[in-house]
Amino acid sequence: MISSVLPTYNRAPLSFVKGEGSWLIEADGRRFLDLGAGIAVNALGHAHPDLVAALTEQANAVWHVSNLYQIPQQQKLADLLVEHTFADTVFFTNSGTEACELAVKMARKYWYDKGQPDRTDIITFSGSFHGRSSAGIAAAGSEKMTKGFGPLLPGFVHVPWGDHEALKAAVSDITAAILIEPVQGEGGIRPVPDQCLKGLKAMAEDTGLLLIFDEVQCGMGRTGRLFAHEWSGVTPDIMMVAKGIGGGFPLGAVLATEEAASGMTAGTHGSTYGGNPLGCAVGIAVMNHIADPAFLDEVNRKAGALRQKLEGLVAAHPTVFEAVRGQGLMLGLKCVAVNADVVKAGYDAQVITVPAADNVIRLLPPLNISDADIAEAVNRLDKAATAVEAA
Ligand SMILES: *Cc1c(COP(=O)(O)O)cnc(C)c1O
Repeated sequence: MISSVLPTYNRAPLSFVKGEGSWLIEADGRRFLDLGAGIAVNALGHAHPDLVAALTEQANAVWHVSNLYQIPQQQKLADLLVEHTFADTVFFTNSGTEACELAVKMARKYWYDKGQPDRTDIITFSGSFHGRSSAGIAAAGSEKMTKGFGPLLPGFVHVPWGDHEALKAAVSDITAAILIEPVQGEGGIRPVPDQCLKGLKAMAEDTGLLLIFDEVQCGMGRTGRLFAHEWSGVTPDIMMVAKGIGGGFPLGAVLATEEAASGMTAGTHGSTYGGNPLGCAVGIAVMNHIADPAFLDEVNRKAGALRQKLEGLVAAHPTVFEAVRGQGLMLGLKCVAVNADVVKAGYDAQVITVPAADNVIRLLPPLNISDADIAEAVNRLDKAATAVEAA
């Protein structure tokens, strides 16, 4: 008989009743060090007092009013995002894949309004992940996500990740945009080299096509800059954000330049819940921490310390791990052993990691993880690796 919850997830036999900073606690009191952070969502850890205060204060004031009216929290969060990024304007969603939907619509509408309605193609890359909506799965294009769900939304052109020649060949006079994750998350923590992002920008400037960056996983301080593309100095025309921006409250956003957003006039897009007072109140509290340069300096310092310890871990367990990769606190351990076995051994050692493609385990800890918890995390990963060696 089918379970009452639609059985689309492969769940671990873990159930947490409480979160505290970088720790998750089961009903029996067992404490797990959380290096997954709900897949890069709990950017400030669990139960951060400022986030709890922002949410409860807003909950006591007003929960929902609809976008038929002014929403001051939404205005303030948009102002903060505009102040700290390339963007001139922001639309709020509830998730990453809804941000993908709007990014695609915005790019197509841009060309339609420019009198080039045939310019609808969006170029995407193998190994990418843009969520599970119809546009998201068509964009990523992998058989795992699309099989059986056809007909797929047309207009996506897939090229192999890292293949410059294939990309050049794919650009045509009907290309509307290139959609790319500056650091692939689900694809196995694969950063796009700065030089390649610069190459994409040059291509965009030559042909007019729009650059869309999916920073749903790699954004919001995860790599040690507010957004990952800042490392390269290259800015997109449109950017998708979600996960960390709500710190655990469902919240997403599309950021865009005035030019790229020029087709999105009144009535062209909307969302019932997107940008509701609760989500935006929390988002403001998250931004107040993460956009602070001193906070990002700490992320970089901690990332350096964690990475150094992980290099030692890889050297000590060559039959389990092959290499460390990634940027900031978005790190991957490329495994020699089966990554799922390493994740499971981690559960036994009470440390949580997240599997990704390419036989990688992801480490996406809260950005404010303490130095002591970093040391303890590596001890527990060492224990897990020793157990995998013994198996
Ligand atoms: C998680 C993710 C998404 C989808 O976000 P949802 O909130 O699950 O819809 C899109 N893009 C990237 C890069 C992601 O990591």
